Amino acid sequence: MAIDPDFQTTRQKVADHEGHAVFGPEEKPAKLGIHGTWVAVDFDLCVADGACLDACPENVFAWLDTPGHPASEKKADPLREEACIFCMACESVCPPVAIKITPK
Ligand code: SF4
Repeated sequence: MAIDPDFQTTRQKVADHEGHAVFGPEEKPAKLGIHGTWVAVDFDLCVADGACLDACPENVFAWLDTPGHPASEKKADPLREEACIFCMACESVCPPVAIKITPK
């Protein structure tokens, strides 16, 4: 299962986290939703592989500890999504296809 490319219409924004949106459902610690809008990471799919952090030329991602989540206990949080240059590198290297880039 990959991130829903239509999440901006199929899900509701339920929170703000460090300046980016969170699209629910969010039921911590087991369900965390999707973080980010144009750089969107489905935290419920993220396995903390880290390929996106290595691939991103703009350092958009930072680790966020998520203890108790069944898929992984840290997530690649799109903390600096405003810096994204839409190179698509992160989307193409993510093993579980948890990232959706939507150019503005
Ligand atoms: S599309 Fe490129 S610049 Fe944007 S977050 Fe992904 S790797 Fe970084």
